[in-house]
Amino acid sequence: MTSRPIAEDLSLSDALVTEFPSVESLSISYLQSTPGDGYPGTSVSWDPSKGDRLECLNTACLKGGVAIAALLSPIVATAQSKAVRKKPCSGQERMTNGEFRPCANVFMIAVELRYVAS
Ligand SMILES: [Zn+2]
Repeated sequence: MTSRPIAEDLSLSDALVTEFPSVESLSISYLQSTPGDGYPGTSVSWDPSKGDRLECLNTACLKGGVAIAALLSPIVATAQSKAVRKKPCSGQERMTNGEFRPCANVFMIAVELRYVAS
């Protein structure tokens, strides 16, 4: 099992701005635990322009990652400015026999939020 540091980003995509109007800015940094090997050594940063998910590094994973909106909902609902969450990848991994199993990657995510002054 390895953990890779992932970069962070400070801007919100249009979809997230619409869904969370009280959030002024957002910083997400995360580690992804990857059982087994075969992953590239480069880190992946969350780019809001590519969508609203944290990417899974497992190249066999389909529809994987962590949905940022689902991650943020309970945090924003209670107006927390910092939170750490551990989330399993939501994807499915295709095995060599063609069947699928849940992706085993786990995300450890630190979120920092600033809220719009009211
Ligand atoms: Zn995955």
